Amino acid sequence: MTKPRLKVIPLGGLSGIGKNMMVMEYENDIIVIDAGLMFPEEEMLGIDLVIPDISYLLEKREKIRGIVITHGHEDHIGALPYLLPQLNVPVYSTKLTWGLISVKLKERKALTGAKLIVVPPGGQITLGKFKVEFFPVCHSIPDAVGLIINTPVGTVVHSGDFKLDYTPVSGKPTDLSRLAQLGAQGVLLLLSDSTYAELPGYTPSERVVGEALDHIMADAPGRVIVTTFSSLVSRIQQVIDSAAKHQRRVFIVGRSMTDTAHMALELGYLNDPDGVLARLDELKGMPHNKVVLATTGSQGEPTSALVRMANRDHRQVHILRGDTIVISATPIPGNEALINRTVDSLFRQGAQILYDKVAQVHVHGHGSQEELKLLLNLVKPKFFVPIHGEYRHLSLHAKLAQSVGIPQENTFILEDGDILEISPQGGKITGKVTSGNVYVDGLSVGDIGPVVLRNRRMLSRDGIVVVIMAVNKQTGKLVGRPDIVSRGFVDTRESKDMIDESRDLVARALDHSGDRPTEWSFVNTKVRDILNKFYYEQTKRRPMILPFMVKV
Ligand SMILES: [Zn+2]
Ligand SMILES: [Zn+2]
Repeated sequence: MTKPRLKVIPLGGLSGIGKNMMVMEYENDIIVIDAGLMFPEEEMLGIDLVIPDISYLLEKREKIRGIVITHGHEDHIGALPYLLPQLNVPVYSTKLTWGLISVKLKERKALTGAKLIVVPPGGQITLGKFKVEFFPVCHSIPDAVGLIINTPVGTVVHSGDFKLDYTPVSGKPTDLSRLAQLGAQGVLLLLSDSTYAELPGYTPSERVVGEALDHIMADAPGRVIVTTFSSLVSRIQQVIDSAAKHQRRVFIVGRSMTDTAHMALELGYLNDPDGVLARLDELKGMPHNKVVLATTGSQGEPTSALVRMANRDHRQVHILRGDTIVISATPIPGNEALINRTVDSLFRQGAQILYDKVAQVHVHGHGSQEELKLLLNLVKPKFFVPIHGEYRHLSLHAKLAQSVGIPQENTFILEDGDILEISPQGGKITGKVTSGNVYVDGLSVGDIGPVVLRNRRMLSRDGIVVVIMAVNKQTGKLVGRPDIVSRGFVDTRESKDMIDESRDLVARALDHSGDRPTEWSFVNTKVRDILNKFYYEQTKRRPMILPFMVKV
């Protein structure tokens, strides 16, 4: 009898950056690692966020022993508020991550009933046949961990997001000795972060950013506005430290960053020994060169404080000439256009903008090539799966693995949904499960499909035409000419003649349409066909056409 194999199934994060989710299954036990979201790309109109498709997990709900979270970034925890109500399984994480999850769940009113369990770095939990140890890694957020997973077929190491910063701002450096020890004992499989597999060398230390912030706070003639991810707690700490040195006070603007900062202060991950943090209502009357504002919006998110300020749409804070704005984050791929628009509009208002291309105001939290090779060398896995990245990142990471001696046939480049079955004898991709994007639009989850997105694209490009036709209740005959209202299609004054002509066209067509002009599906199709053709001839555009019938 062949021994059962371990199944490794990525549900997110391997066909693009973001919405990380990895499933491990052995016989009757499943653990899920991370449950992240992805910010929408620009063509996903009106979509707030994207989360992984969990149909596979819903089918196997009773096997799931828990969700293990590596750290508190959105691309690792952001899907929890939407998934937990459906899955209702315990979530294990370190303390700061627990705090960030609680803030998220509360925001989305999904906290009640959630089973959130804190595990200290270095701690171990048992989930069915899996034993999971949390080992500290350095990343751009404190309390980040990788996972050492004991399975019946061998040891699996999951790196989480990591880099090897020997002088981190907060949190511990990556526990290399523990990894070396494991390497000596034998590791079956390593899953490792590929986000920055394209970059040669080492990732600079967070210290570099601290120094850059120091210079900026010393030299800026007016207010300094620092924008970053609300979860980048260590960056907020650097802002506080630097402000204290230069006798500035720090005002946090925006709900999500305020909530996060409160939580992190309470749990002791954020320290304000000089009391520089101030309430927003103390801002009035403060000399500008004594002020630092910390806010979200580094990704150009339309509802963030920075974007509101850039558009003169923020209640409390307006951009002033002389402001220095520091964008302390790298654009998440797909967000560049939004960010560039925000930066342009900030420049236009006379602010000075510093971002990663012009100043060392951000270092990312992921290892570069030399760090990735070091991890591979320490862990010495038999099999290797690159995770967290687009296909080119995963391929490059696989090449790095080969360069340090892991045979090509022992490296598996997976995509979301692939089932990798693995045992000490070998590994094989044996099939595919349902995977993909679930779109979250405001409060609705998953109601938005590709058809809705296509309609939204069409509306945004070619506009909409509404045709209102009055018909006699008794005779079913058209009363008068139909009304036509359009938005985003043509200038209605300039194109008055064309619109008039199209009203006549519809009227004529329905008059001559035989004996059942009130048959709705018939009228609907007919009107759309006629107008589609006519408008395309006239304008080379295809607006969305919506006929309505009113019985009078
Ligand atoms: Zn991360
Ligand atoms: Zn990540």
